[in-house]
Amino acid sequence: MTFATLGLIEPLLRALETLGYQTPTPVQAQAIPAVLAGRDLMAAAQTGTGKTAGFALPLLQLLTMEGPKVAANSARALILCPTRELAEQVHASVAEYAQHLPLTTYAVYGGVSINPQMMKLRKGVDILVATPGRLIDLFRQNALKLNQLQTLVLDEADRMLDLGFSEELANIYRMLPKKRQTLLFSATFSDEIRSLAGQMLNDPLSIEVSPRNVAANTVKQWVVPVDKKRKPELFVHLMRKGRWKQVLVFAKTRNGVDALVDKLQGLGINADGIHGDKPQATRQRALDRFKSSDVQILVATDVAARGLDIEDLPLVVNFDLPIVAEDYIHRIGRTGRAGNTGEAISLVCADEVNMLSAIEMLTRQTLTRKTEPDFEPEHRVPDTDASGQVVKKPKKPKKPKTSGGGGGKRNLGKWVDSGDVAPAEPSIKPVRKVPVFNTGPRKKK
Ligand code: AMP
Repeated sequence: MTFATLGLIEPLLRALETLGYQTPTPVQAQAIPAVLAGRDLMAAAQTGTGKTAGFALPLLQLLTMEGPKVAANSARALILCPTRELAEQVHASVAEYAQHLPLTTYAVYGGVSINPQMMKLRKGVDILVATPGRLIDLFRQNALKLNQLQTLVLDEADRMLDLGFSEELANIYRMLPKKRQTLLFSATFSDEIRSLAGQMLNDPLSIEVSPRNVAANTVKQWVVPVDKKRKPELFVHLMRKGRWKQVLVFAKTRNGVDALVDKLQGLGINADGIHGDKPQATRQRALDRFKSSDVQILVATDVAARGLDIEDLPLVVNFDLPIVAEDYIHRIGRTGRAGNTGEAISLVCADEVNMLSAIEMLTRQTLTRKTEPDFEPEHRVPDTDASGQVVKKPKKPKKPKTSGGGGGKRNLGKWVDSGDVAPAEPSIKPVRKVPVFNTGPRKKK
């Protein structure tokens, strides 16, 4: 199969040739004809599958072939993304695919001044990529009207809900014309996503290109058990031993990112960090320098987990496991993209055993453990497997009990150890519950 047999027009084929895309990926093979035929889509596509081109190519074609010229302060297609970085990246891809077409594209997001965005929208743009909050701001300030909108794309819809954008999505939903095409992409499908799809989509075609919730099999994954306090030391040791050149590292908190970056920089290692507290320009600069290999180690919170496309990224390290198991899939999806192989190493301490168990259940695999000599943990990480079992072996023979209950139970922090079997569903649900589609009365302006 070729892109030409999928019915794409010549200017798009020429752009793809320049980019070196020869064969459509599975998601592209399914999505392109369906979108061209005007169908709504509900696509379960894991990150790195080529989903951006899957929706962008047919969208560009439809906008070129059909519909009126874009009016002032209007957009004909809207792509909603959860993060600024992803919005930038999706926009860059769309602009590349559109290079031979007479269409305009633009990306808007928060964290930067709104005025230049308002100016740019005056003439209208054919394709607008946006994060939800900034889109609403622009709409409320009358810088953007959506009555010309033909197509809405919700990219990484699960992430938008995880980040608490459910209210914003509900507001945007009310701003949209009833007649439109809607394409929803999500790596995972929770009940909330299904409910969102139920409201937003009209008789959608379902596309699933890889088994649900399974991480890319081009990524070699393993776990190194270690005591929490020795993680920084282990990281540096592994880095030197493995001669790591370009590593994306995930830490749980903003403070965790800063602390690791300080430690690495203190050792003369070329490291930088990105998290939500940093200004957008600083984040983008760190990311650009990492992509161009000027920065060797980029430490990030989950803000950076989604959608970032860094060519041939060989290695992802989970310095901390993610609180939400699905984020593990997104994190490791930064490597092993578009058929390349990659590695994902997780440094896991005893406190994180239930998170590890949730990840193994979700990805339906037991992650190999490789203990590093001289870093054997004092606090053993209990055995886990893909069934959700957390098997605890007593470290020492127990003394005969003198009184009932409680003895030997360890405090596992937030992930309370509730017995031998990790809870199946709750542990893999987002921590923050957000209402999907508040249908209550609309606030007066
Ligand atoms: P995505 O999942 O959309 O983020 O795409 C992942 C990576 O695959 C990006 O670097 C794309 O440029 C690349 N890509 C997408 N489609 C193809 C294709 N058909 N052939 C080669 N590379 C592709």
